[in-house]
Amino acid sequence: MNTVATQLQSIPPAVRRRVLVTGGAGFLGSHLCEELVRRGHDVLCVDNFYTGAKDNIAGLMCNPYFELMRHDVTFPLYVEADEIYNLACPASPLHYQFDPVQTTKTSVHGAINMLGLAKRLKASILQASTSEVYGDPSVHPQEESYWGNTNPIGLRSCYDEGKRCAETLFFDYHRQHGVRIKVARIFNTYGPRMHPQDGRVVSNFILQALRNEPITIYGDGSQTRSFCYVDDLIQGLIRLMQTPPDVLGPINLGNPNEFTIRQLAEAVIELTGSRSTLVAKPLPSDDPRQRCPDITRARKTLDWQPTIQLRDGLAKTIAYFENLLSRGPWTAIGTGSS
Ligand code: NAD
Ligand code: UDP
Repeated sequence: MNTVATQLQSIPPAVRRRVLVTGGAGFLGSHLCEELVRRGHDVLCVDNFYTGAKDNIAGLMCNPYFELMRHDVTFPLYVEADEIYNLACPASPLHYQFDPVQTTKTSVHGAINMLGLAKRLKASILQASTSEVYGDPSVHPQEESYWGNTNPIGLRSCYDEGKRCAETLFFDYHRQHGVRIKVARIFNTYGPRMHPQDGRVVSNFILQALRNEPITIYGDGSQTRSFCYVDDLIQGLIRLMQTPPDVLGPINLGNPNEFTIRQLAEAVIELTGSRSTLVAKPLPSDDPRQRCPDITRARKTLDWQPTIQLRDGLAKTIAYFENLLSRGPWTAIGTGSS
């Protein structure tokens, strides 16, 4: 018998939980599904493949404790689960601005549907919220008590305001219906399985460097971000789900080491040994000037902090994209294909 299956079957059913992961075929979702299966849980991945891909979860498809369901979370879902991680939502500015109405629907209707499901099942539900709820912050670093500085009518608003409304729904379902909620505010996360055409800064810079193409710096490159490697983030999400019912969040999850975008470009050039030069491009509208999490709450409540330094995480991500480049073309957004 296959060794993994033998190990999984030896896990007592009382310990094994049925876990629903929406957006499970995406970048973060696929790593989360993998880690949950590795820990012996019974995972149902729900995804409409808007930005996700079957390739991301191909390694799980033969596992008896992993199931895949094609479904759009803006429609009600009737399944059974003990825990729900709600990750379904395009996350890169390019992808979420492609169909902004659908982005808001996914955040808001998706949250209502998944919270309704959690209410019926008496399940714990974790929301993958975002540092974008802080908008272009006037407080630095950002603590959870900061209410944010968002533009309600800009190009990023479909995502920022959608996620803010989802947080409101989470807290109202908790206050009104006693739903067991957990809200994580995720800061920029990177790693293998980022979509190669999602336009995010880490994937863009690595691909440009590997092809010796100019590296596109938006604005003057002095804006900052704090980059968390995916493995660290997944541990944080699972720890948050495991907290007692009175821990609701929001809790910032991210790496507090802050870099300018120009510093990131220089690190990528050095690590890839690229001949790329830097080229300036216009700064997108409402692009936050600086972003850095205060993770005091995560440290205290979850005993969690990132362990993977930027250069180490970049090296792993570069290796992933090198391999991907050697394999050929990718599918485009909105095809709903794998
Ligand atoms: P991603 O685009 O790779 O994954 C999103 C997944 O959701 C994809 O598989 C996509 O197909 C699926 N999806 C989108 N709309 C859906 C719908 N209506 N119904 C069902 N599935 C749908 O993005 P990601 O980086 O993995 O982000 C996952 C979650 O984490 C998102 O909610 C995002 O807002 C949040 N987040 C991510 C980051 C980050 O840096 N990666 C930062 C903050 C928050
Ligand atoms: N950025 C850049 N060049 C790129 C892609 C992004 O300079 O090719 C900048 C972008 O303007 C932003 C930062 O990198 O200031 C992070 O962008 P990303 O889209 O990854 O995430 P955001 O944090 O803005 O959602």
